[in-house]
Amino acid sequence: MIRQDKRHVVILGAGVIGLTIAHVITTRHPSSFRVTIVARDLPEDISQAFASPWAGANWAPRGPYDPRIYKMEYTTFNKFWNMGALGLTCNVPSRIYFTKEVDVKTIWYKNLVRNFRVLSPEEVPCPFKGGISYSTITVNPQKYLPWLKADLTSRGVLFVRQQIHNIDDAAELAGPNGIVFNATGLGARSLIGVEDPKVYPVRGQTITVLAPDVKQCVAWPVLESPAPNGDTAYMIPRPAPHGHVLLGGTYQEDNWDTSIDFNIARRIWKRATELVPALNTEKTKIISHNVGLRPARKGGPRIELEWLKLPVVKQSLEDIRLKTSTYSGSGYQCSWGAAEEAVELLSEL
Ligand code: FAD
Repeated sequence: MIRQDKRHVVILGAGVIGLTIAHVITTRHPSSFRVTIVARDLPEDISQAFASPWAGANWAPRGPYDPRIYKMEYTTFNKFWNMGALGLTCNVPSRIYFTKEVDVKTIWYKNLVRNFRVLSPEEVPCPFKGGISYSTITVNPQKYLPWLKADLTSRGVLFVRQQIHNIDDAAELAGPNGIVFNATGLGARSLIGVEDPKVYPVRGQTITVLAPDVKQCVAWPVLESPAPNGDTAYMIPRPAPHGHVLLGGTYQEDNWDTSIDFNIARRIWKRATELVPALNTEKTKIISHNVGLRPARKGGPRIELEWLKLPVVKQSLEDIRLKTSTYSGSGYQCSWGAAEEAVELLSEL
């Protein structure tokens, strides 16, 4: 039964970040808060208006070592690893190829991923010069997001489909003494009262194929000269449906275009079939072409506490505690660590 004296938490956004924040709150503080998730797009939607359905959702190192991000990724890696027993995540063998020999000192994640080793020259395909192999985690968003929603619903979390235009409206929904978590991803750029100009999209285009023989994740450098702007190269076998593989992709900063670019699709296909010629058979079927916009933020994720004084509300002037959180390009990979950091702010209230 919901106790009326519980403080009301409104989480704005039902992508992987909003859902994970709700999970951490209801796990750590099962009887202190009443939680409502308010979002324009809900976990079951396959909508290009939010990022979470489109992710490769693979735990893969990105960029140089950053202690703050590493902490989030470390927490999330271990959490995802343990979720394998529930069938929500999948442990997959992975390889990364490089255009030069591997300098192990620069591989900051070697003690975090499992079964790490440097590939012998015979294991590295031409024209690459070095490679590594390790086990990592892949999540299937189409299964994982609905699971999070179902689990949260069983904990009493309410889901409301609503677009919010002004952060004050969310604060009003939270009511007196309420708390708002802002997990709107790219929405933080235009949400009145937040309007974070550092938030920008990173366009990701992929192809989903049926290719049951592809069993490992691979990432490799784009070799064309000059390299087409924003192209990347990877393949990720999906935990389910069986045999589905995501071929990628692009990392196009500040590009808002959600339509499919078939020139990019051709390049993705060409690179994938050059690396794995076995893909280029009649057995491989194209399931879909996909485009999603990753929310990113210059300067990194924003996890901080803000106090919002509402203008005129029904009862009186109220202080509303507002937590704003916006995340960078790899939202799944940071999700549990970032949510824990955000929820720790509750203790400051
Ligand atoms: P979103 O999923 O965008 O959710 C935002 C939520 O806020 C939605 O519910 C939306 O409806 C709601 N909202 C926004 N504005 C409003 C408003 N005004 N009112 C009400 N609701 C609002 N990440 C990884 O970790 N690993 C990967 O391998 C990976 N691969 C990717 C590949 C591609 C092609 C793409 C596109 C993304 C990939 N990502 C990956 C990134 C990952 O998908 C995102 O970082 C993550 O989904 C962001 O989650 P989020 O909850 O912050 O935002």
